[in-house]
Amino acid sequence: MRYPVFEPEVTEADVEAVAAAVRAGEISGSFGESIPAFERAFAAFCGCKHGVAVSSGTTALHLAVAAAGIGPGHEVLISASTNIATGLAPFFQGADIVPVDSEPDTWNLDLNQLEELIGPRTRAVIPVHLYGHPVDMDRLGEIARRHDLVVIEDAAEAHGAECRGRQVGGLGHMGCFSFYANKVITTGEGGMVVTNDDRLADQLRLLRNLAFGKPRFLHEQVGFNYRMTGMQAALGLSQLGRLGSVIEAKRRLAGWYLRHLAGIDGLQLPAERDWARNVYWMVAVAVEEAFGLTRDELAAILARDGIDIRTFFCPMNLQPCLQPRLSPRGASCPVAESLWRRGLYLPSSTNLTEDDVASIAGAIRRARDLGRPPAGGVVR
Ligand SMILES: *Cc1c(COP(=O)(O)O)cnc(C)c1O
Repeated sequence: MRYPVFEPEVTEADVEAVAAAVRAGEISGSFGESIPAFERAFAAFCGCKHGVAVSSGTTALHLAVAAAGIGPGHEVLISASTNIATGLAPFFQGADIVPVDSEPDTWNLDLNQLEELIGPRTRAVIPVHLYGHPVDMDRLGEIARRHDLVVIEDAAEAHGAECRGRQVGGLGHMGCFSFYANKVITTGEGGMVVTNDDRLADQLRLLRNLAFGKPRFLHEQVGFNYRMTGMQAALGLSQLGRLGSVIEAKRRLAGWYLRHLAGIDGLQLPAERDWARNVYWMVAVAVEEAFGLTRDELAAILARDGIDIRTFFCPMNLQPCLQPRLSPRGASCPVAESLWRRGLYLPSSTNLTEDDVASIAGAIRRARDLGRPPAGGVVR
């Protein structure tokens, strides 16, 4: 058997929805009903007033940072362990970046370290709900309010995740989602910014569409073309109808992994805090010293069994491209750096069965047994 790390689920109904949009002329980002319909439906799913559909999660984050008025001379706190897109958003705006190290168990930004990293130029914080586990947005919101920070959630991996029963995306000033092929639902390429703030929604819509003014070809502000196309929105609407069952399937898959991987020494399993609903975008684990093999040795053995993995993200403080804008205050992130060496995520497609998970877990146990001396014995 071969187990790719992820395969997107595109149904015949999805294909029909896209074909219908194309037939109706909903080609680009300026026409048709699918875009506003997808925006309304996704915003409602998040419990938010406004949704602004864009071309990717990367452009969602950049648009949100731009709409918040972040620019040169400002600092933005971000989770250290994340996709480069989180770091690029403030970078594109000329702002400085302060990575915040990770918690050892949820792998999200460590709120105990947040306050000491806030300085006089700090304007915003971008928490990332990594691998589907929500950040404690109640505690983060309390700190952000005290320091008057704009809160932009990076929920690219966390559609439907919950913090004390409230869904992510609407828990800060703006929430950014991705609909890339491997995300919880997909539009091929695509993203969305959700917000409850009318003024921010207007600014997001304006900047998304080149900041067209009045008269039409007069532009007061520097905007972007970050529009989503109508045919992508039609795919998104069709996928959104299944989102609840996709999340259930992901949680079921994670449950099987937790059961079949339980009790393996030196393998740290994903957490779910008692106040959290983790949507397990990907089932991630971290290899500890007690495992007897390094992460890379384990990955090489699993690859021989056809089991595909991905490593954790390289933390933002180590990214060569971000160095010119990196604040010295966030220069060291030992937990995120260690996760970059030790973390991996396992095959997480929703079409996997419990037997598949059992056989992947079996391969991990066999690899572990190779890496350690037999109990009580001596390695010859
Ligand atoms: C995927 C991802 C992004 C970027 O989304 P794209 O649609 O690929 O541009 C941003 N942040 C996180 C945490 C992601 O996982």
